[in-house]
Amino acid sequence: MTKPAFQFTAGGILFFGIHLLAITAFFVKPDLTAVLLCVGLFLIRKFGITGGYHRYFSHRSFKTSRWFQFCLAWLGGMSAQKGALWWAAHHRHHHQHSDQEDDVHSVKQQGFYWAHVGWILAPDYNDYDAKRVKDLTKFPELVFIDKYHFIPPVTLAIVTYLLGFILGGPTLGLTYFLWGFCLSTVILYHTTFAINSFCHLLGSRRYETGESSRNSFILAIVTLGEGWHNNHHYYPHCARQGFFWWEIDPTYYVIKFLKLIRIVHEIKEPSARVLEGKEATAALG
Ligand SMILES: [Zn+2]
Ligand SMILES: [Zn+2]
Repeated sequence: MTKPAFQFTAGGILFFGIHLLAITAFFVKPDLTAVLLCVGLFLIRKFGITGGYHRYFSHRSFKTSRWFQFCLAWLGGMSAQKGALWWAAHHRHHHQHSDQEDDVHSVKQQGFYWAHVGWILAPDYNDYDAKRVKDLTKFPELVFIDKYHFIPPVTLAIVTYLLGFILGGPTLGLTYFLWGFCLSTVILYHTTFAINSFCHLLGSRRYETGESSRNSFILAIVTLGEGWHNNHHYYPHCARQGFFWWEIDPTYYVIKFLKLIRIVHEIKEPSARVLEGKEATAALG
């Protein structure tokens, strides 16, 4: 299937604009707060994607209250990767059709560029099939924040600027905006996209899953545990993706901590038969 390399849309121009701003950050000397903002906003928003958009909204691998569910939608939303419903609907489709012709982002079908970023910029995928996320569309606040998905990232961008402006004037405001929002957001983009591209190309395979998913220690480190992608394709329902103690999975550790302080509950775990590779289930769809 031939896909266009790039189509000019407002979203595409914004996407490349934020990359230019992220490069600009390297020409602006940061103070310690700017660096901490970059790292801190990466980590907290990354959990919004991995723990929120992926393991909660896409796979329903644990339960939580309605208010914290909205917090997860907002946290993930601040990453500027569209809304939770859009993200979950396309991700469920990926699990159901992995590496088949209609997989939305298959390295095997459409090549690296398309799997990594091309599909996100294609206007064909701006919408999503609401039938895939019927369990989520019953919450009007989720539908609202998905429809107006620009609100969380724009709010965050303004807050980073205002923080610097209040502490030191317009130059510091610009520094915090470039480091805390732009650079951090671009790193978020490519670490998330790497799961769709590199994790179907590089790494090892423990389980035979009928598609090309792989486990990668390096990608697990930079994605808070999402690099154990072959484990995840084998058994997508559970909250952990690192199936053994040496498979570092920070997202799972945070979910366990949230259970300890009673914010989440009913965390789904893989059974012994799953770990031994004797059982798999179809992905949520
Ligand atoms: Zn995959
Ligand atoms: Zn998944």
